[in-house]
Amino acid sequence: MSTPGLMMNRPLLISGILEHGAAQFGEQEIVSRETHGPLHRYTYADAAKRSRQLAHALAQLGLKAGSAVGSIAWNNHRHLEAYYAVSGSGMVMHTCNPRLHPQQLIYVINHAEDEVMLFDATFAPLVKGIAAHCPKVRAWVCLADAANTPAIEGVSVLNYEDLIATHSSDFDWPQLDENTGAALCYTSGTTGNPKGVLYSHRAIVLNATAGCMPDVLNLSTQETILPVVPMFHINAWCIPYAALVAGTKLVFPGPKLDGNSLYELMEAEQVTISAGVPTIWMGLIQHLEQNNLRFNHMKCTAVGGSAMPMALIAKFVDKYGVEVRHGWGMTETTAVATMSSLSRADRQKPAADQHAIVAKQGKAVSGIEIKIVDETGATLPRDGSAQGELMVRGQWIMERYFKAEQSALVDGWFPTGDIATIDALGTMQIRDRTKDVIKTGGEWISSIDLENAAVGHPAVAMAAVIGVKHPKWDERPLLFIVRKPGQNVEKDEILGFLTERVAKWWVPDDVVFLESLPVGGTGKVQKNDLRKEYGGVFS
Ligand code: ADP
Repeated sequence: MSTPGLMMNRPLLISGILEHGAAQFGEQEIVSRETHGPLHRYTYADAAKRSRQLAHALAQLGLKAGSAVGSIAWNNHRHLEAYYAVSGSGMVMHTCNPRLHPQQLIYVINHAEDEVMLFDATFAPLVKGIAAHCPKVRAWVCLADAANTPAIEGVSVLNYEDLIATHSSDFDWPQLDENTGAALCYTSGTTGNPKGVLYSHRAIVLNATAGCMPDVLNLSTQETILPVVPMFHINAWCIPYAALVAGTKLVFPGPKLDGNSLYELMEAEQVTISAGVPTIWMGLIQHLEQNNLRFNHMKCTAVGGSAMPMALIAKFVDKYGVEVRHGWGMTETTAVATMSSLSRADRQKPAADQHAIVAKQGKAVSGIEIKIVDETGATLPRDGSAQGELMVRGQWIMERYFKAEQSALVDGWFPTGDIATIDALGTMQIRDRTKDVIKTGGEWISSIDLENAAVGHPAVAMAAVIGVKHPKWDERPLLFIVRKPGQNVEKDEILGFLTERVAKWWVPDDVVFLESLPVGGTGKVQKNDLRKEYGGVFS
């Protein structure tokens, strides 16, 4: 019989992260661009005080352990305070994606049973449209002071500053079970209603701690991190927690996510690490190129959410001297599950080989296991070429959706809906989503690979590929291109460029040039919209 360990059993709690941050790094800065006014600047100690004040205020509003508090907000300091106050109190922080269709927003607020909604002034028109349809919400709180809180017809609006002002900045955080629900995030729901993922304190604390590791986000007191990735989606990859674990300066971009605003903030606050989806980095790089700018402080950018094209990786590394970390995760995985990082041996390889390694989605972070399976569920070899559905399990992976009766797992693993390869060293590469892969003549074409190849053309800003029905081949690829400003590259040149880079049968049957691609709330190209409009039949 095994011998029980004789250690304390202290729960992993989000309030513990806040109090650790305040006690150990109380003077560390948090800088935040607000919806109104100049940059807001304060310390971890200040943030902790205000979080505790908010915890009192929520209790005074009648909320109890287990109550849900929603947010419709940018990345800013009040949103951070809510992250800690709500979960720390044993309530559920439900971050809503403001770019959801209002009907879906109403659905998730009601499904989550949110009792208080926190919102940025930007979203006042949205609140006006949905408030009457959310009967359980007893208070709408604008994340602003009285002067910047708009009146909304038909809605009684409180303002955050008055709400917390009179409360004590001491609070006894409850000693919860670490498996208590802490935060709730819904998937984008491109098909059907969004599904909720209820993260536990344990999952978030473990992920936040693992996220600090040198080969993940490399957080420490020496660094300054700017999460572009929104706090309303997948916990901003747990950066608002991880920063306080490591004592890292935090910089929030607020509502301004264009290249110019991000660049200015990164330079002014000497940001060394950032994190976001590829579309954000494309905008930032374009801004740098057009204005002949350079980064003076940025060392590393973490990217994920969709595949980072190799051409963009090369540009960051070779031209701007910024290392790229390419991660994979999904709403169901709390935050990052795999991450690419160059080993010592990798760093001896030629630049192009290094970029190719970073273009893969990397290795499972400690605490996570991955495998790939075929249609029968049989495990496929780790040889870098067999491809199958990616399955994941681990310490911060969802077991079932919020309010679902049944587990989402298959034999104890979560089926991701992504198709991947894994090589002998454990490096995983996403080939496609099962719903995006193009099935042609009994073979598969990876839309990601085609897009990556197309973005390698110097005149191409963005590319997307969908499968279009074909009477003979089942499906054939159709390529969409957004040209860089001032470029007028045409179809033949693009197809010629691709012919030199991919198998002949992969070359798309046609190219459509668009002014922009439909990009959804989480910065991903909405291929469903493209399919609706262009997914007819090739003859
Ligand atoms: P949705 O896009 O439906 O809102 P998520 O935001 O949870 O859902 O996105 C998860 C999906 O995003 C993954 O299943 C995968 O298809 C895709 N994804 C995430 N990171 C990467 C990456 N680095 N490369 C390619 N695809 C990625």
